Amino acid sequence: MTAKSSSFLVDLRQLQLENARALLEHGDQVLPDPDSDGQLFLQSLIDKLCELSLKDPLTGLSNRRYFQNILAREIDVVARSGEPALLLILDIDHFKNVNDRYGHPAGDAVLQQIARTLSACVRPMDTVARFGGEEFVIILPSCQGHYGQQVAERLREAVSTESVTLATGATIQVTISIGGAFAPRWVRSTPDLWLDRADIELYRAKSEGRNRVCIEPQPVLSVSAEEKHLLFGPLSLGDPAWIESMVNDGSVGSSGSATNRMN
Ligand code: GH3
Ligand code: MG
Ligand code: MG
Repeated sequence: MTAKSSSFLVDLRQLQLENARALLEHGDQVLPDPDSDGQLFLQSLIDKLCELSLKDPLTGLSNRRYFQNILAREIDVVARSGEPALLLILDIDHFKNVNDRYGHPAGDAVLQQIARTLSACVRPMDTVARFGGEEFVIILPSCQGHYGQQVAERLREAVSTESVTLATGATIQVTISIGGAFAPRWVRSTPDLWLDRADIELYRAKSEGRNRVCIEPQPVLSVSAEEKHLLFGPLSLGDPAWIESMVNDGSVGSSGSATNRMN
């Protein structure tokens, strides 16, 4: 912000803030008194509207808009750092049957319960979002291959063992299918391509019987000594120990061949 624009004074009485204020206060948000500190009121109004625009109202999870931002950012981080990151797409199995049998409000209660379960099973650095309908997505940064499979299994199992009890005393149990894909390392990809790959795995989990996890095998990148020098040579100033440290760091595979094979 320039000095000129930051010194611009706003007269709150000239702004039409009633709709924004009503929207927030309807959602039980408490705003500061505009008469005692106009600037604090306006800042709080803006902050709370931003927060609202990034949340799913039913589950309180991040919404698709927020998720898309984090996904794009994570692609960038992985491309630059080589740190593995996993994307999971989770879809409730036969959820239409739940609505048909118990009604839409019961289906909503199941969605809320699953949102709580998923949030409780991941690290604070992970992003859990409602992608839409009965689909959720999770981004797990700094996630090694074996850990990703374990987390996904833990999520699947946690959901399958939870139940929602209705006012009528009936209990509902559901399962989820999970598809996952790691972001390509050292390569610039796109959020849509990453999502597509996880979605293919979700489709596989569904077609193999549901209530299961399918994660795309990670390619093992094996680079020859000559290629390592081509990749790191200008940075390493010809220091083989530095190159090996990059390789042993897990950034690049260390076998002698230059093939890109699947596990
Ligand atoms: P599959 O195992 O193949 O995923 O089957 P499914 O029944 O879960 O999939 P389908 O796409 O046929 O149905 C999804 C259902 O999710 C239909 C829709 O009514 C329900 N749904 C989507 N959003 C909501 C919501 O916000 N609340 C409730 N209660 N139901 C929802
Ligand atoms: Mg679905
Ligand atoms: Mg479904």
